[in-house]
Amino acid sequence: MKETGKVFLVGAGPGDPGLITEKGLKRLRECDVVVYDHLASERFLDEVPEESQRIYVGKKAGCHYMKQEEINQLLVDLAREGKNVVRLKGGDPFVFGRGGEEVMAVSREGIPFEVVSGVTSAVAALASAGIPVTHRAVSRSFHIMTGHTMTEAGKLPLDFSEFAKLSGTLIFLMGLTHLPLIVKGLLENGKPGSMPAAVIEKGTLPGQRVVRGTLDTVEQRVAEEGIGTPAIIVVGEVTALDFASTYHEPLEGARVAVTGTDLLAAKLRKSLEEAGAYTECVLSMELESHRSGEAMKTAYERLADYGWIVFTSANAVREFFLGLLESGRDNRRLGHVKFAAVGKGTAKELLQYGFTTDYMPEEYCAAALAEGLKSVVKEGERLLIPRSGKGSPELVEILDSAGIVYDDIVLYDVAERRKEAKEMAESLKKADYLTFASGSGVDAFFENAGEDVTALLDEIRVVCIGDITARKLEEHGRKADVTAARFTVEGMTEAISRDWNRGSEN
Ligand code: SAH
Repeated sequence: MKETGKVFLVGAGPGDPGLITEKGLKRLRECDVVVYDHLASERFLDEVPEESQRIYVGKKAGCHYMKQEEINQLLVDLAREGKNVVRLKGGDPFVFGRGGEEVMAVSREGIPFEVVSGVTSAVAALASAGIPVTHRAVSRSFHIMTGHTMTEAGKLPLDFSEFAKLSGTLIFLMGLTHLPLIVKGLLENGKPGSMPAAVIEKGTLPGQRVVRGTLDTVEQRVAEEGIGTPAIIVVGEVTALDFASTYHEPLEGARVAVTGTDLLAAKLRKSLEEAGAYTECVLSMELESHRSGEAMKTAYERLADYGWIVFTSANAVREFFLGLLESGRDNRRLGHVKFAAVGKGTAKELLQYGFTTDYMPEEYCAAALAEGLKSVVKEGERLLIPRSGKGSPELVEILDSAGIVYDDIVLYDVAERRKEAKEMAESLKKADYLTFASGSGVDAFFENAGEDVTALLDEIRVVCIGDITARKLEEHGRKADVTAARFTVEGMTEAISRDWNRGSEN
């Protein structure tokens, strides 16, 4: 019999991906299946192992996707199958998260469980909005109430009057639709109309909005601004304070949709997130290596025959050197070799392996590389070109025309993994930027994005790592809005940061 799995009830925090706990992240990275709902940021799904299952049980457009009893049963069933299950919930699992019901269901079945507390939105969204939940001499307590239990009949819960009379900060979750009722109830129970009040929408997330006012004005302010969910209502003197952060990361508030190979996408996202951006991968490409295939095996055996090794991507450099070691050789076999690199990113990668670049064209493209090689390659020198299966044919055509001898070998191929066209469209609609780090990435995107790509690209700024990629984009009828000056991940982050802050820089 299979060993029973465990259930981890993990709080995902209020939305900002940086506000999950280390323990929660660890559980996610090790789980076999994650069961999540709409409040838990989608960003976390990328932390789950590739082969693990992802099950959505949240609400969509107001209707319950799965009933609580069904979720409870699902957790039990999955654990019984021997799986380690992460039940990811927004904020803290026990703050109106129905975490208790899930715990009861699994513990009744003798399934081992653990609760990993999370940062609750009831506190974090306020902090993010600049409202301290308590403040010396202003508020000595805070109280959190759900607005959900206020009945459709428009009645407040029985204990509301006691709640309303508390002098501390009053916080309402799930209360936006009942805002008029809440305000009325508070006024009827003695709170003055001048009492400061605020509503925070999408706290800690890009698109966060804060409306401040008083009990008399807050409803109207919310209506004027068209505030939507998720939202928190705060009432109390602290609401008049504004301790919103004055330091901002350069990309704070920016949403970036990323495309690229796994490794590059991961690096780019890390770099962008460190700069404060919210990122999402809409199309990733997986590298399928042929470094231990027959063709490369022969190439490694014949290293002595080559005068040059030509690299057209950082991936090629990495794969080549990994393959070299795996073939039982090391860098000493390359002492006589000269290296050509298509551009700075490739040259930088080469440097990681201890080699400087002997030739790099001024313009970073395959044709310029081939043209340049014509003048630096000496007669009789043989070239090794280990590269992507999708490499530009122009490179070898130009070399052919010059009578240069070479071995053009497919070192790796690129396989695509992507969101469904519909999902991709959803992500793009919300994003401020879309990034491309290679021409093949551009092609793959247009192949996959579905019919209405142009419409999707209207409202978004498109970023290319360099001129070649930008040119490829133009072939698809779109000009790049931002092109990195340095053709590296850091260069892209820098260019996007500059663009994002362009309004505030004069
Ligand atoms: N367990 C969660 C709360 C679940 S109840 C927690 O600890 O945060 C869901 C309610 O939480 C929403 O209706 C809304 O009132 C509030 N909420 C959650 N995330 C929010 C956010 N990022 N901004 C504003 N309100 C949020």
